[in-house]
Amino acid sequence: MRFESIDEMNSKLIQCTRCSRLVKFRNEVANRRSRFSGEEFWSKPVPGFGSIDSRLLILGLAPAATGGNRTGRVFTGDKSASFLFSCLYEVGLSNRPDSISRDDGLALMDLYITAVLKCVPPGDKPENGELENCREFREYEIESMKNLKVVLALGKIAFDTFRKYEKTKGYDVSDVQFKHGASYSIGNIRFYGSYHPSPRNVNTGRLTRNAFISLLSEIKEEFLSR
Ligand code: SF4
Repeated sequence: MRFESIDEMNSKLIQCTRCSRLVKFRNEVANRRSRFSGEEFWSKPVPGFGSIDSRLLILGLAPAATGGNRTGRVFTGDKSASFLFSCLYEVGLSNRPDSISRDDGLALMDLYITAVLKCVPPGDKPENGELENCREFREYEIESMKNLKVVLALGKIAFDTFRKYEKTKGYDVSDVQFKHGASYSIGNIRFYGSYHPSPRNVNTGRLTRNAFISLLSEIKEEFLSR
């Protein structure tokens, strides 16, 4: 499938039903979450958020069941979003310290956020075929970022997906390995990896607020200097 623009891509994206397991799950999940009973869930593929002309790209794994899959905006309305945006705000990359709903007035500064998989997977575990099915959407997004300087991947799956993408473009990525805080030059891009800001990592202390703010500060300096 070829797209003429990000807007055209997104209009096709939200109608996508290519992964039958994920189509079933993204619809079922609303009925399983009594905390949100009565609320209408988005339950469709979730587009990226922010300006495609940004210099910084943050790549997550997939919409969260009661986050992006509920609200229709990536990293919105769940605990991962609260942690991420409290830190982005701290370093001046967003105008609000939280991300609640699509109409909350949130704006990103020189930053585009998306996920490598556009539909919520059961247990946050995508199958390889699903990541492959979604490839044309995420690669079109990345290729549309003409000013891209720095990429931050949240978690190993997002990291490995971007690494694989760069490999298909002919770059030698044999030394590029996921490690929190490590960064690599791939062509003109500086590529960083971080633990995902999920409750699993935050509540166990694996990812602390100070450590994440410190990494975001380094990243901001990096892309502002380019
Ligand atoms: S994960 Fe991607 S390819 Fe699969 S149904 Fe969702 S949008 Fe389509």
